Amino acid sequence: MKKVLLTGNEAVARGAWEAGVGFAAAYPGTPSTEITETIAQYDEVKAEWAPNEKVALESAIGASFGGVRALACMKHVGLNVAADPFCTLSYVGVNAGLVLLCADDPSMHSSQNEQDTRYYARLAKVPMLEPSDSQEALDFIKLAFEISEAFDTPVMVRVTTRVSHSRTLVSTGRRKAVKQKEFARNPQKYVMVPAFARMRHRFVVERMGRLAQYSETTPMNTIIKGSRKLGVVSAGVAFQYAREVFPDASFLKLGMTHPLPEKLIKKFARGVDKVFVVEELEPFMEDQIKAMGVAVTGKAALPVTDELNPDVVREGFGKKRRRHPVEDTSKLPPRPPNLCAGCPHRGFYTAAKPLKPIVFGDIGCYTLGMLPPLSMHDACVCMGASIGIAHGYSRVGANK
Ligand code: SF4
Repeated sequence: MKKVLLTGNEAVARGAWEAGVGFAAAYPGTPSTEITETIAQYDEVKAEWAPNEKVALESAIGASFGGVRALACMKHVGLNVAADPFCTLSYVGVNAGLVLLCADDPSMHSSQNEQDTRYYARLAKVPMLEPSDSQEALDFIKLAFEISEAFDTPVMVRVTTRVSHSRTLVSTGRRKAVKQKEFARNPQKYVMVPAFARMRHRFVVERMGRLAQYSETTPMNTIIKGSRKLGVVSAGVAFQYAREVFPDASFLKLGMTHPLPEKLIKKFARGVDKVFVVEELEPFMEDQIKAMGVAVTGKAALPVTDELNPDVVREGFGKKRRRHPVEDTSKLPPRPPNLCAGCPHRGFYTAAKPLKPIVFGDIGCYTLGMLPPLSMHDACVCMGASIGIAHGYSRVGANK
């Protein structure tokens, strides 16, 4: 065992390699991109970029059917693109283990929206793990493959920017020898016509029950005993912030956040005077915990937009902000992103500008054409949307 400093993304790649993964496919997107760049360096893994996230997941499904452990990686908006195979994959299950790694971007450092993809795990009835640092990123990916094969399910591992890009100390291990499995023909399991899908949906519901039992006892979900005055339920990087802000509190640290361990949560709540839920973005855990009949405070104190940090958690729960050595960055010159000096898109925009066109753009460098002096983007919704929007716009005879 060796100790090394790894980013969360590097640790995901290392964990997948240690788990015996033989195939990885992805569509690049911040903050997930470096996972595939890293895993491509392992000779034992066939790693490739796909033309989009749907194809990346479908390629991983094919590898899993072919008996090889497979990883599909994408950022949060990519899961919208891959949602069609993802939701039915839940019914089909796996042959060899399959893990979908989804990286969310709270605060939208490099994204067009701030969606909380944890809801996809509930929608698709798929188990979800949320590491809070690089060591857990490595450990949880390995566990995810074990869960995938034990429960015949894809497993979603959800990270966020600060887990993906922060570097923390990691104990690495050896690669597990995993034999390629035979693909056994089984239309009832693999061919989702309505008659078989109805049977598989019942299997999925029964599987969620077994996964809920697993969630009660897995060491990923653990109580850290502290003061009885306050209990904090948290997961992912938000756990690190909460530990810093409430060093004396008791914690229920959740690594498996879907399905939630109801009995464990109730036991934890009974042992403390009050419970806070500290989570980034939506009240995903809070709403479910309240539905269990447990009184908690979460989004009444914390925002549903943007990343958390220790100061936001401090202020939200009525504590004083820390003093920072550099607090005011407003006097620093702004450095917005821009098209490279020799970018060919500049030439196109410059040539088209005198025509004063309405421009519907796509996600990518060319979106930066919206900035002055080019000012050549009038709408940008999502990847690949430009032609469809331009088509609809032109069909209704809107102004040109
Ligand atoms: S497409 Fe992007 S990376 Fe390439 S030259 Fe233009 S701005 Fe630079």
